[in-house]
Amino acid sequence: MNKYIALFLHSEINSISGNDRKQFFEKSLSVNLSREKTYAILLIIWNVFMVVYIGLGALNGTWARMPEYKYEFYLHIVGLLIPVLFLWRFLNKSKFKSSVNLGFILFAVYWTAAMALVDLSINQQLIVYSIGIMAVSVSLIMNPKESCLIYISSYILIAVGTLLTQNRAEIIESSILNGLILVVLGIVISKIIFSFNVKDFIKNLTIEAKTAELERSQIILERALSERTEELALANEQLVQEINVSHALEIQALESELKYQKKLIALNEAMEYEKIRGEFFTNISHELRTPLNIIFCTLQMINSFIKNGIEIDKVRMSRYMNLMHQNCYRLTRLINNIIDITKIDSGYFKINLRNQNIVKIVEDITLSVIPFAEYNGFNVIFNSEMEEKVIACDPDMIERIILNLLSNAIKFSVPNGNIYISLFEMNNYVIIKVRDNGIGIPEDKQRTIFDRFIQVDKSTSRGREGSGIGLSLVKSLVEMHNGIIDVISELGKGSEFIIELPDVTVKSDQESAEYSSNNLVDKTEVVRIEFSDIYTMEYK
Ligand code: ADP
Repeated sequence: MNKYIALFLHSEINSISGNDRKQFFEKSLSVNLSREKTYAILLIIWNVFMVVYIGLGALNGTWARMPEYKYEFYLHIVGLLIPVLFLWRFLNKSKFKSSVNLGFILFAVYWTAAMALVDLSINQQLIVYSIGIMAVSVSLIMNPKESCLIYISSYILIAVGTLLTQNRAEIIESSILNGLILVVLGIVISKIIFSFNVKDFIKNLTIEAKTAELERSQIILERALSERTEELALANEQLVQEINVSHALEIQALESELKYQKKLIALNEAMEYEKIRGEFFTNISHELRTPLNIIFCTLQMINSFIKNGIEIDKVRMSRYMNLMHQNCYRLTRLINNIIDITKIDSGYFKINLRNQNIVKIVEDITLSVIPFAEYNGFNVIFNSEMEEKVIACDPDMIERIILNLLSNAIKFSVPNGNIYISLFEMNNYVIIKVRDNGIGIPEDKQRTIFDRFIQVDKSTSRGREGSGIGLSLVKSLVEMHNGIIDVISELGKGSEFIIELPDVTVKSDQESAEYSSNNLVDKTEVVRIEFSDIYTMEYK
């Protein structure tokens, strides 16, 4: 039996350990105090009402008939004062909270018991006591020990009070029995409420513990996450650095590759230039030696004829002279060209621009070529759309340009070919075209023939003499006139050289410094020099 009583008194609270138990009681205490505050207010309102009501009864003579109302009146005064005191002085005394709570419960139960005793005399009812017991047991948290002590002691008060104040047996009996039932009910309800609160607390504790656990794991997780993020950021930085280094290395490699390529290109260009230069010198040596050999051999032959007393007839002598003459012109032309090219390179070559009739210059030099051309079996056809066209030009240079193109046209054509020279105006340019129906120039060489020392494969121009500087000189002379030169050619069909000279004049020049077409002898001399590559010519 004692075992069950002990179990009843202790069971739930035992499952809460020291510190948590203290916390539970503190929490219960604060719940109780806040509810007691409500009860105190309700009690004040009720007791004020009852004091007034019973006070009025005194005036009506109720107290005289029933002196118990006087006691009830006093009890209502007590029931009014104590809650006022509770609210006014004690509720907020933090030091004595536990005693204040216990005091209020004791007051509530004892006061209702006292009220019940008075009521018993008036109405033979314990209604106030039952309200008190129910209200306290249902709404206030008490541990079983406390509730047993409070209810049982209040029951003793009821029982003793009934015995002392009542004399009717059935009232005593019913009061003692009802009081006992109320007390047991109060204890049981208190116990149930207490148990609920303990369980609730334990549940909250678990939730709190779990929340704390969750918070802890969240913190751990966050820490791990931030560590991982840092690691990743570091790894990322390292990666970026590695990529940068590898990029720098790649760029370095590319740069050295580029430098190497550039050097290679420069080397190739130098080698190519060297090759061309070498070919040029070989060519020049050949070009110099050939006419020299011819002159030398002819002289030797004439010498041996004289030595051996052989008489040389006029025709033969004139042929020998002719041969030596032509080769002297070839040497002169070659040396002139080399000197001019060197002057152009060093910037000493100057042309003398004057306002001159370009139609006349081209026509005159063409006419002076006709005898040579016809002698070699070529037709030279001149055609101009204009009678006269004055532009800024150097007549001597224009002559050299035209002669060079004409000598090439003859050199690279088969006898009986036609050579056309035409002049016309277009878009503020004077166009001069020199066309032949000779051997033509392969497409891949058309761009390079204007470069210095370039000759189309010897095999295609076999039998034709040349140094490879004629067209380069022509191009430089045209450019000095701010003009351009181009070629259109088809292998086996012929070539057309097109010169475009700007239609401009120079100031400060008098038309009077007129192109004095050099005397015929001079021009013939010039033509002879330029045409000295073509052998089949007669010099008189
Ligand atoms: P070259 O003294 O060898 O004639 P050029 O600079 O005048 O030197 O000409 C360069 C090369 O262009 C010639 O060797 C020849 O192969 C080619 N060429 C020039 N004019 C003609 C043309 N009218 N027909 C065919 N080939 C030509």
